[in-house]
Amino acid sequence: MPISGVKQALYGIEALSAAEKCRNTSPCIHTYVFTLSLTFVHDSCMILIVDDKPENIFSLKTILELHSFPTDTALSGEEALKKILRHSYALIILDVQMPGMDGFEVAEAISGSSKARDIPILFLSAANTDKKFITKGYSSGGMDYITKPIDPDILLLKVKTFYRLYEQNRELNRIQSSLRSEIEFRKKVEGELQEAMRKKDEFISIASHELKTPLTTIKAYIQLLERAVDPGDPTRMYVDRTLVQVQKLNNLIVDLLDLSKIESGKLKFNKKVFNFETTLSNALEMIRQTYPDYQFVLKGQADVQLYGDDMRIEQVLINYLTNAVKYSPDNKEIRIDVELRPDKKLYVQVRDFGIGIQKDHQSNIFSKFYRVEDAANRFQGLGIGLYICAEIIRRHDGAYGVDSEPGKGSVFYFYIPVAVNVTLSQQSVGQI
Ligand code: ADP
Repeated sequence: MPISGVKQALYGIEALSAAEKCRNTSPCIHTYVFTLSLTFVHDSCMILIVDDKPENIFSLKTILELHSFPTDTALSGEEALKKILRHSYALIILDVQMPGMDGFEVAEAISGSSKARDIPILFLSAANTDKKFITKGYSSGGMDYITKPIDPDILLLKVKTFYRLYEQNRELNRIQSSLRSEIEFRKKVEGELQEAMRKKDEFISIASHELKTPLTTIKAYIQLLERAVDPGDPTRMYVDRTLVQVQKLNNLIVDLLDLSKIESGKLKFNKKVFNFETTLSNALEMIRQTYPDYQFVLKGQADVQLYGDDMRIEQVLINYLTNAVKYSPDNKEIRIDVELRPDKKLYVQVRDFGIGIQKDHQSNIFSKFYRVEDAANRFQGLGIGLYICAEIIRRHDGAYGVDSEPGKGSVFYFYIPVAVNVTLSQQSVGQI
């Protein structure tokens, strides 16, 4: 049988079954069907063919399976609905005219089911080619409408298109659901992380408060002891050393308390106009006493009025100076430069000739808990001092930074605006 003849014979579902019978006897038909196949491999969802005529079902099933589409069949609308509830289908090919429930009723029932409403429906009808029937087909949930006699090429193209759409849809759903679970997972982890952070902050706050009280008492007793022990007494050295260590511990606890205050937004400032020279000399006096073998060289004019919390600014100075000492074990000179610049800001620099900091670490050292690894192995610390300094300077509308070269030393600086136009009420009441 010539190919064109076979094609002719294949028009119409009923004709398809005849063609199928021919296919068994004529190799030409086999060739024709083979040329239609686009080597689809469908490993998953079936196509449901619904028709009350077994011979129609047989024809459609044969041609679809020859193109590797898995199929399932139903001989009535009722049977189709039962199957649709139990299985998933990629496409439903639905005959319109059936006894009992017709195709439109089946489609309407499907559109009401959340499980099945997205399955595309392809209507087949021999009789109802009228426009109003086609319109009804679409409005009852159909995606396409084919009237008999059916051109198998067109049918296959449509089936392939719907199947591809179904697969793309399924892939999209898969991606969407994996994205959804990824988002859920991240949200959960984020929540847990936040809770852990909250607990950690709470713990730091409680622990440092609890430690502070007995430490203050210990410090007071050691100070009493210091006074009671004669300076010439050999035990005096132990008392002094104990006091130094207690002071270090006290500083750590104060830092931890400040950290938890920053985290909870409760770091308070008692702002007023003050003279920076006094603050600087207090800080220097304290640091010189603590590190008598270091030399602190001051340059510049510090007699400047600032508006802020003098205790907090002193804290920044002491932190910079303590770090300068700590990270310069081999060079005992520390320089302090103070300068009032034309932009009405006071620039303060603390320069050491110590271990220095590599460029790639410099932008991080003002972050919470950040410590340069090499230094962290050699020097004790918590990595919160500079973080607190940064917060204090920021809250004084200032800026801070570091210039450093490994092996040569570092310059830590900050600058804050000088007090101009500070009203009397701000001066006396202070600002939090
Ligand atoms: P800590 O000294 O307790 O680690 P800081 O917040 O004061 O915490 O400092 C953070 C890090 O910055 C330090 O661990 C150290 O690596 C680096 N650093 C700070 N000051 C200096 C300095 N003067 N010289 C070299 N490194 C410094």
